[in-house]
Amino acid sequence: MDDGRWTAMSDALYQEIILEHNRKPRNFREMADADRVVEGRNPTCGDSLTLWVRLVDDRVADVSFKGQGCAISKASASLMTSAVKGKTRAEAEDLFDRFHRLVTGTLPESEQQSLGSLRALGGVSRFPLRVKCASLAWHALHSALASQAHEVSTEGVGGDVSPGEGA
Ligand code: ZN
Repeated sequence: MDDGRWTAMSDALYQEIILEHNRKPRNFREMADADRVVEGRNPTCGDSLTLWVRLVDDRVADVSFKGQGCAISKASASLMTSAVKGKTRAEAEDLFDRFHRLVTGTLPESEQQSLGSLRALGGVSRFPLRVKCASLAWHALHSALASQAHEVSTEGVGGDVSPGEGA
């Protein structure tokens, strides 16, 4: 099969998944009985979201989000919540690791199969600024799973949270 045509076909399919999740985001609601709430911001693009997580026996019993931003950030949050619901904390972190390598272009093709619909975001690896949009919800999830509520920002990814607190 013609490689170029295959790429165009899968790009179109992936774009359709992103647009559909942007139009009708899954788990787009507040959660009254969440035990973790995290605010995530991506100042580069203007994306912001709130993520609610409820952990039961170290498993993501429920996860939801609300927020504003570009189609990539919203679709990624929608896909993320769908993907991690029901997973253990370790499984969710493992998924985050693979997803992060996908969007930064370092995940081998053989491992991409396991990501399912999340592969739709793989195209952002060609657009470095978009990587932050696609990663925002995942960084918020990582933060929520690691500790209780606080704020994360894509500025200073690599461990730091956003400036402005305690300064
Ligand atoms: Zn964005």
